[in-house]
Amino acid sequence: MRLFGQLVVGLMPITPKAVIRWVSKRYVAGSDMQSAISLMRKMSDEGACFTVDVLGEEINSMDEAQFFFEEYSNLIDSIVENDLDANISIKPTAFGLLIDPETALLNIENLVKKAAEHNMFVRLDMEDHRVTGPTIDVCTAIHEKGLHNIGVVLQGRLMRTLSDIADVCATTGKNSDFRICKGIYLEPENIAHTKYWDIVHATNDAIDAMLDSGAYTAIASHDNPVIAYSLAALKSRDMGPDKPDPRHTESPNLCSGKGPGYEFQFLLGVRGDVRRKLSEQGHTTRVYVPYGTKWYEYSMRRLRENPEIAFHVTKALLMPWTNKR
Ligand code: FAD
Repeated sequence: MRLFGQLVVGLMPITPKAVIRWVSKRYVAGSDMQSAISLMRKMSDEGACFTVDVLGEEINSMDEAQFFFEEYSNLIDSIVENDLDANISIKPTAFGLLIDPETALLNIENLVKKAAEHNMFVRLDMEDHRVTGPTIDVCTAIHEKGLHNIGVVLQGRLMRTLSDIADVCATTGKNSDFRICKGIYLEPENIAHTKYWDIVHATNDAIDAMLDSGAYTAIASHDNPVIAYSLAALKSRDMGPDKPDPRHTESPNLCSGKGPGYEFQFLLGVRGDVRRKLSEQGHTTRVYVPYGTKWYEYSMRRLRENPEIAFHVTKALLMPWTNKR
């Protein structure tokens, strides 16, 4: 699978941009905010809610950070105006975390404040291991200022994740809120699991740890062994659709659109049939909706970082019945 992906990635530089655009259409809402809003309005009938990502990461100057601040600020207004069940996902490096961490923190805090006025949640996406600690620090620092509508993503493949869960929960207590995913970045083997089953087991262990700590747990995986494990883990804790979260006598400050202590999350364009089935069973399901002019760079970078994605994308194109939008 990896070899096939590498072959596809090797061919990318000579693939016409129009072809990449055509392929990425399935995974990216469009190049502007309006396309994301229209798509969410259409998809609202499927029972899903959303988290929206403005494409772009690691910037070179703080002027670019200003663009992301303004775009996300307008996005919050637009979600509210259109009465959508949606929140936002942001990449801290797009706010300057690697070049001016203090200003990045301030801008993210201001955005979280604005979102809080609308009872909207802000998720900090997790990027590669250079920023794992700093991203968690941004999240806990903002909680310490009394804003609880923010949570971080942790990656099952990283060996530090179980201790990160404990540390974050020690600070954010009953307001702890995680997205757990396998992690898209192929990290070095001294800090990360690198084999498929090791990553699955580690991700499932992290899901257990999050559920046991009382944290809101957003399970972001399209993989059957992770989804099946999660469903069993929820059942064994008497958690499920339409049941009040049994882990709390006093409710945490949940933002609008949240499920009973957990939800399932899917990327736009990936395994829509599985998502719709979970939704029909009553589980809260959220679609991650990326949009922006940087769709080309985003697609190329994702594929280079993890050639297995190229395998999934090609399979989805050649055998569309294996992956429904
Ligand atoms: P896989 O084994 O990779 O996939 C399971 C199955 O899903 C595949 O067999 C295939 O059928 C299908 N599939 C998966 N991807 C595709 C695709 N692109 N096209 C077609 N079919 C596909 N990672 C981070 O590092 N940081 C983040 O902040 C982050 N946020 C995420 C948010 C959401 C909502 C989701 C769903 C994922 C996020 N990820 C993030 C990515 C995640 O870490 C994984 O890289 C990605 O989800 C693939 O892992 P998987 O668990 O779905 O399993």
